[in-house]
Amino acid sequence: TLSGRFSGVFDKLRGRGALSEADVAEAMREVRLAMLDADVALPVVKDFVNKVRERAVGQEVLDSISPGQAVAKIVNDALIDALGGAGAVPLNLNNAAPIPILMVGLQGSGKTTTSGKIALRLQTRERRRVLLASLDVQRPAAQLQLQQLAERARVASLPIVPGQTPVQIAQRAIETGRREGFDVVILDTAGRLSIDEALMEEVRQIRAATNPAETLLVVDAMTGQDAVNTAKAFNEAVGVSGVVMTRMDGDARGGAALSMRAITGAPIKLTGSGEKLEALEEFHPERVAGRILGLGDIAGLVEKASETLDHEESEKLALKMLRGKFDLDDYASQLRQIQKMGSIGGILDMLPGMGKLKGQLDESKLDTSVFKRHQAIISSMTKQERRTPDIIKASRKKRIAAGSGATVQEVNRLLKQFDDMSTMMKRINKLGAKGLMRQGLS
Ligand code: GDP
Ligand code: MG
Repeated sequence: TLSGRFSGVFDKLRGRGALSEADVAEAMREVRLAMLDADVALPVVKDFVNKVRERAVGQEVLDSISPGQAVAKIVNDALIDALGGAGAVPLNLNNAAPIPILMVGLQGSGKTTTSGKIALRLQTRERRRVLLASLDVQRPAAQLQLQQLAERARVASLPIVPGQTPVQIAQRAIETGRREGFDVVILDTAGRLSIDEALMEEVRQIRAATNPAETLLVVDAMTGQDAVNTAKAFNEAVGVSGVVMTRMDGDARGGAALSMRAITGAPIKLTGSGEKLEALEEFHPERVAGRILGLGDIAGLVEKASETLDHEESEKLALKMLRGKFDLDDYASQLRQIQKMGSIGGILDMLPGMGKLKGQLDESKLDTSVFKRHQAIISSMTKQERRTPDIIKASRKKRIAAGSGATVQEVNRLLKQFDDMSTMMKRINKLGAKGLMRQGLS
């Protein structure tokens, strides 16, 4: 993965007393290869590497006490820039009600699903009254699909009237929205298998008839560079105000997100990470950059935790992480929380230092049994051992292994895992994740 490759590069630089220009050049070569492998567009890679090199060969880096850290910080900042700058770009909901949001994209990209997700989010989190309307007259079942989705989300949907054109349905939706006092009207359009003039013309007509506050392009992250090309074509033909990237839960190589802003000029506003209606996230460039660098996405994790767990528990966890000060008891409690939150793969990506653990595990068998084993091992430790893991040497390891039915090797792996995590936390704190954390907590 891109994240694995990047942490490899910085692991090499870490702990060096001083960096030579050759060291920086070597690191940049690896960064370049990693990005190309991750399917980032070539012009974006070139621009990125040049920017980083320019800043990295500056004296402050070569002279700094911890140059590896300094280079990591420069790369982190450049990643944030490439992804569109710090902070999520919110949906524009400042127009007078009913505010039209137009969903466009190719067939199967996730438009209908995302329409339902956005409706649910606006209604539950922002207390907006939302009306969903399907303008898809291409596929007979499309309007029914949206209606069923609306029922699941407990959001209103426009009654289906057969025989109307997309523009007529759009106008009826806006009229209904006005008459019945809806705040937002989400217009879900039909897609085609590929970009064609008929599709663009339909979108232009709907736009002209409804004057949407947002024209959101939905693209499938799994299609990699094609997603970026699709976005470019749509933006040039009809203009888009934002991009929603779906299927971020798949094993897409991530390069598309990195190229999107530079190539299309349109910000990624939201991402989809599953088929469930709740699987919609804001796109925070600084968090994504952190994940790419293998630093984890603490703020995202805290957010997810606070949705799933009781508030007190997640805040305690956040504070410990913030201080970069946690012991094996905290590690065990984290494992318990991970189990509660489900979707182990996604959570591991967000946890600092856990990316490697994910790599060690057979992905197809990624389950919670490892976490149960680790918990068992930790519960065989004394209180003192859990507080100060450094004291766990050979004889203690043997005792702990015997007590939990594990091997000494397993105990070693757990301690290494904990160690990696602590190191990563310290790195995050140095990179200024405190601000990021506060943002996630507020
Ligand atoms: P549309 O043709 O653009 O309206 O696409 P749909 O909304 O009908 O979605 C096509 C398929 O993709 C459906 O099976 C969805 O459940 C699935 N889908 C949509 N978004 C996501 C996502 O973020 N992750 C995953 N794994 N599947 C998704
Ligand atoms: Mg659809």
